[in-house]
Amino acid sequence: MATGLRPLHARYPYFERSREAVREADVSLVAAARDEAVAERALARVETVLTEGTVGEPERGTRTELLSYPIARVLVSLVDQPVLVHRYARAEAEAARERFVADLGRRELKSAPGNRLTLEGLLEEFDLDGAVRGTGRAETSEADTERGDGYEMGVSSYLSLAADRRGEEWRLVNRRLAKGWVALSREDVLALLGEAVRQRVASGLPLSVPAEIEAPLEEAVATIEERLAETNLIRDIDTVVPELFPPCMKYLLDQVQKGEHLEHHSRFAITAFLSNIGMETDDIVELYMVNPGFGEEITRYQTDHIRGVSSPTEYSTPACATMQSYGDCVNMDDRCERISHPMGYYEDALEDADDADLTDWRARESEAEAKTEAEAGE
Ligand code: SF4
Repeated sequence: MATGLRPLHARYPYFERSREAVREADVSLVAAARDEAVAERALARVETVLTEGTVGEPERGTRTELLSYPIARVLVSLVDQPVLVHRYARAEAEAARERFVADLGRRELKSAPGNRLTLEGLLEEFDLDGAVRGTGRAETSEADTERGDGYEMGVSSYLSLAADRRGEEWRLVNRRLAKGWVALSREDVLALLGEAVRQRVASGLPLSVPAEIEAPLEEAVATIEERLAETNLIRDIDTVVPELFPPCMKYLLDQVQKGEHLEHHSRFAITAFLSNIGMETDDIVELYMVNPGFGEEITRYQTDHIRGVSSPTEYSTPACATMQSYGDCVNMDDRCERISHPMGYYEDALEDADDADLTDWRARESEAEAKTEAEAGE
């Protein structure tokens, strides 16, 4: 094992101290990408996300397991599909949450000093030490902790971490809120720490990957692309079926097509949504063209910026909490009660829909064009 690399670093490779340990060990990403064992585990990390929804079983070797994480991020970046980034970050977060539950309170991992995981240390890792406090009842009554009496989190931290969590129980209206503090159980705190991991894993993805790192990973990338094609994930989330859009996006799209002027935040929300479900700039520009106030150049510029074509990052659709604060959350329906993100709404709606209902909007458009051309030629 390289000096300074500990089992805790391998178990939680996204921790700042783990990244620091890698920097100190002076292992280059190029060397890691060329290391067969590391590349193999990195591939398994991503491939198992697609087959089982998890990051798979950890490698016993600390160095291999730890380095497989940055290489897995490189693989996800090279495949460059928003749905893979989303699923991968979610699987790392879920693995983290399970490990938090298992490791907290354990004396030491493999008895090496400095390997103990504590809740205080975890909160500090994610800059939440001032944002979470115990109420003193967590250890005394299990019933209390289940109701969310053991801990409290400052409301702004809560909103930023709970925004993407599915389930009615995460909506602020369903939580006890007093003087800016939201009541939580220990389980809730660990779930929200998992969310902090998800945000950290997803941040900066996709990375821009230099050619010397990409070359040794070509085969692994091809394997993931094959697996993606088999799972139909891309087709699913990239299917553009406006009837299944969340009510807020249906409304905004309708406004665009009626030629109404949209505020900047609303235009950002609908464009980010259309881009996140896989629409290309040309398709989005075409969709906006019916708007009399449409300016092709500015729309193209904004869309490329949001899609990450002309900017370092692809912007995400705002979560429901943000949509609500801007007044963009309208016509909520039953499904809205179960989700906290418009992408979650759409993913759910696609999963529930019959295959027969899943005709892509773009396919309908081309069919309609072909029909018009055929009629004109008669
Ligand atoms: S709850 Fe979320 S998905 Fe539903 S309309 Fe509001 S912002 Fe859109």
